[in-house]
Amino acid sequence: MDCIFCKIAKGQIPSKKVYEDDLIYAFHDIAPQAPVHILIIPKKHYSTILEIENDDKELIGHIFFIANKIAKDMGFNEKGFRIVVNCNRDGGQTVFHLHFHLLAGRMMHWPPG
Ligand code: 5GP
Ligand code: ZN
Repeated sequence: MDCIFCKIAKGQIPSKKVYEDDLIYAFHDIAPQAPVHILIIPKKHYSTILEIENDDKELIGHIFFIANKIAKDMGFNEKGFRIVVNCNRDGGQTVFHLHFHLLAGRMMHWPPG
């Protein structure tokens, strides 16, 4: 399958790695929207969050646990951060491999644009 994030997770396309284990890969976004902008992806391909099923609940919990760990390790846990998942056209999704944006280092706006 011709998926850019599958290739990044396999190391076939270079990226600035933040974290990796058997299930997930985290790396810096190529066009950061905040001083810290990390993408956390499952190594297994899901096009959107709509493909998450009951058996995937542990994986999704793991992604949030690792986001928490990255925030603490990088020291932006106390100031705060935002986790975003865009889904399909109205959600603003442009890469169709499920990813969690982890944004930090500036005051976020609400409501989001
Ligand atoms: P989406 O709009 O689908 O929620 O987010 C896709 C994100 O992937 C965007 O923030 C975009 O900058 C990032 N992105 C797209 N292509 C690449 C790439 O080749 N490398 C990296 N590191 N990030 C990418
Ligand atoms: Zn993929």
